[in-house]
Order: sequence, then C-alpha cells, then structure tokens
Amino acid sequence: MDKFILAIDAGTTSSRAILFDKNARPIEIAQYEFNQIFPKEGWVEHDPIEIWNTQLKAINDVIKSANIDVQNIDSVGITNQRETTVIWNKKTGQPVYNAIVWQDRRTANFCDDLKNNNKTEFIQNKTGLVIDAYFSGTKIKWILDNHPKIRLQADDGELLFGTIDTWLIWNLTNGVSHITDPSNASRTLLYNIQEDRWDDELISLFNVPKNILPKVVDSSSISAYVDSKIFGFKAPISGIAGDQQAALFGQLCLNRGDIKNTYGTGCFCVMNTGNKFVKSNNKMLSTIAWRINGELTYALEGSIFVAGALIQWLRDKLGIIKNASEVESLAKTVDNNGGVTFIPALSGLAAPYWDPYAQGAIFGITRGTQNGHIARAALESIALRTRDIIIEMEKDANIKFSSLKVDGGASNNNLLMQIQSDILDTNVIRPKTTETTALGVAFLAGLATGFFNDIPSLKKLWVKDRSFKPILKNNSNQIVGLWSQRINKLLS
Ligand code: ADP
Repeated sequence: MDKFILAIDAGTTSSRAILFDKNARPIEIAQYEFNQIFPKEGWVEHDPIEIWNTQLKAINDVIKSANIDVQNIDSVGITNQRETTVIWNKKTGQPVYNAIVWQDRRTANFCDDLKNNNKTEFIQNKTGLVIDAYFSGTKIKWILDNHPKIRLQADDGELLFGTIDTWLIWNLTNGVSHITDPSNASRTLLYNIQEDRWDDELISLFNVPKNILPKVVDSSSISAYVDSKIFGFKAPISGIAGDQQAALFGQLCLNRGDIKNTYGTGCFCVMNTGNKFVKSNNKMLSTIAWRINGELTYALEGSIFVAGALIQWLRDKLGIIKNASEVESLAKTVDNNGGVTFIPALSGLAAPYWDPYAQGAIFGITRGTQNGHIARAALESIALRTRDIIIEMEKDANIKFSSLKVDGGASNNNLLMQIQSDILDTNVIRPKTTETTALGVAFLAGLATGFFNDIPSLKKLWVKDRSFKPILKNNSNQIVGLWSQRINKLLS
C-alpha cells in the first residue's frame, strides 16, 4: 500500500495541508485562510485557536479527499510562518494573548532602546540577527511586561511559549510535546546559534522565564507523535522547519553557496553557508538552516518586504492591471523601461538598507512614459532588490554563487525570471513543484523515517521546470547603473 507524508504548512494568511507521495508529488492540498487582526497601527495579531482549527480542518480535508487510510501516513512534517509568538496556559491549553505576528511593530521602541544601549553587536554575535521588532524575543517580553497577571503565571511555571510550529505540535500531541527546532529557535533573539542552545544572558536581557521555552530537537528526527485521537492514528512528527529554511531544503540547496529566492508578497533570499556561522558585515541575517543528526547547517538570509506586493499595488491602487499575471503582458508592450526606475520602498526598505522610513519613488517619468514602462520598471525593481541582497551575501560568505533557484507565486512570471537572470548575469532555475516550503519539510520528515532513503536519492525527485540564461548583459548594466544612482539619491 502506498504511503504518504503529511506536510503541514502554517502560513501567515492560511493554514495548508499537503500530502506528498513517494515521488515527492503533491497529491492533495487543502487550505483555509484565517483572520488577520489589526488592533492598532503597526500591530498584527492572529487568533491561535483559529490557526489550530483551520489547520485541523485542512488536515482532515486532505485525508478525506485523498481517500487514504490514515495508517498510510508515514509521518508528519511541520513548516510555519516564523517568529510569530504564542503564549498559552499548559493546563487549559488556552492562549493568554493573541499571537503577535512577525510583521507586528509594537516593540520597535524597545528595539531602539537596545540599539541605543549598544546591544547590537552583543546580540548579533550570539543570534546572528539584527535588533528588530520582527523577531519573537521582544514580543514575548511585551506580553509579559504589559500583563502583570500573565507575568506571574509565567514565573509560576503555568505558561508555555512557542512559535507556530511549537503551538501546533503541542496541540497535535494533546499537550505531550513542547518542542521546536533550531531553525525556528534561531529567530527568537533568545537562541545562541553558535552554541546551539537557549542563551541565559539573552533570556535575562529580555526578562523571559526560561521554563516557558520549548525543548529544541533536530529538524529531521522522530521527535513526537500525533495523538491517536486527532486523526485516529499515532503518526510520528519527524520534520520541523521555519518556512524559509524549509524552502531552502525543498530546493535542495544543501551545499555551501547554494541559494534560493522565494518571490511571494515579499522576497526571501537564503544562502546555505555550510557548517559555519557566518557573521554578516553587510546587514544580512545569519541563521540556522536546519539541524540533522545533531549537525547544524547555517544560512545567510536577506529579506525584501515588498515584491509581489508591488504587483498588487499596481493592480489595486494604480489599477493598471486586473490581475497579477497581467503585469507580464503589460511589461512586454514596451521593449525596455524607457528610463524609468521604480524604488519599491512601499513599507520602508529591508535588507541591506534596513530603513523603515524610506518611501517608494518612480524616477525618470517623461511625456513618453506609458503603463508598460511602469510595469517593466516594477518587475526590474524586484530583480534589482534581489541583486542588492545577493551581492552583500557573496561578500559575507566569500562565495560566488553559480545559479539561483526560485519559487513563490511571482516566480511564475517568465519575464521577471529572465530579467533576474540578466541582472544577476547567472542562470535562474525554477522547479516544477512550486510548493517548495511544504516539500522541504516533507523531505525532512521522510528522511527521518526512511520514507526517503537518503539525501542523494532526493535529487531524482527535484524536477526542473525551466531555466533562464542571461542574454542582455549591456542593457542590464544600464538598468543597474540607474538604479544605484537613484536609490542612493532617495536614501541620501
Ligand atoms: P505569499 O506566500 O507571500 O502569500 P505567493 O507565493 O502566494 O505569496 O505569491 C503571491 C504574490 O505573488 C502576490 O503578491 C502576487 O502579486 C504575486 N504574483 C503572483 N503571480 C504573479 C505574476 N505572474 N507576476 C508577478 N507577480 C505575481
């Protein structure tokens, strides 16, 4: 009887469940959106119970529609939106506060204080991270500091903290397992990624009681079992990884220098740096990619907050396209950008600029400028922001990367991929399965149970859709030249 891996992909806007077969093909997918809660400007929350319920529904749906016997679920892998913070009562299972989402900026002031107190280097040396409200540590502190009763309960050992992986596993195991993996732990600001452990100095800096933190297990190992009441079978949970690290694994970027870029709402560019912590001198994040058999693999990461979101802006605010994919045909109505440069700083600029106050701009408009030029410049800007990051990563890691693997919704845009290849002067490779995040954690889960034999055997399962080779070097030099001039003008 065929067996399957159940991949749980707990995203920022939806809960998804995907069944993968032995050939790593997604045979069934179910997805439920959940509410985004915006209590105040800059605050973003989720209801953890709603996340759990939608996840459970998605799991039940895929099992039902695939019409499989639950005994044939080999194992479960979990990948998740990272950094989002949940604190709950370990007796009742009730969250004490909504989940504070990675996008939430409420702790920006505290982050400024840390920077003003010269904590930047201290924190970067231990965690590989920049000080930013993005990460979990200040979110935990905020919940505890602003609710004295919750702080007391935490001190009394009544509460547990987790990112979404931990929260879901705790529910899937009916409260038996309180665990996470190093890829998720490394996004909390509390984890020492060089020493691979929760760090007492950081825990005390953020005033977080140690007893609320989960145990950190390998990203690929049988580390828990789904309670048999959940779907009638005690399946092993054997893969855990944060979404971007899972995508790196799903793209089989398993060697030092391998790099992938995910083009979604934002872009997340991640480079495998092997078994060594590489400290960035260029405002990239260093992070743990995964831990397998006790061995860590590290990565450098650069994020762009606005990528596909820029295309949404062209659609919803400028109204020059009706749907995202139309941007490609619109951009093809012109041969080049007509001298237009788009700086896509619609919500500040993330890596490597880290300027939360930067605002977007369109340079070079003349009477001849058409919608097509704007569309083309918008696509170029996504490729140029990616270039900004990759250049810095290469400096940090002292590696010249050889090709870029791509995924995410906007990677379906062939023109964007061609522009990316031209601007980077390298091959851009797109896989057939764009579900690389779920695939990555399915690989991690299946490697631990023997469902997949070994890493070399995975190579046969990763199927290329298309690769893009650089063809327009001179034109790209011009685009890059204008971009550098104009972004510097904007930031000066
Ligand atoms: P997320 O996981 O962040 O929700 P997805 O990977 O689902 O993102 O990709 C959706 C994003 O990609 C949207 O922002 C959308 O505007 C953009 N997008 C989708 N298709 C295209 C396309 N053909 N060209 C450019 N952008 C696209």
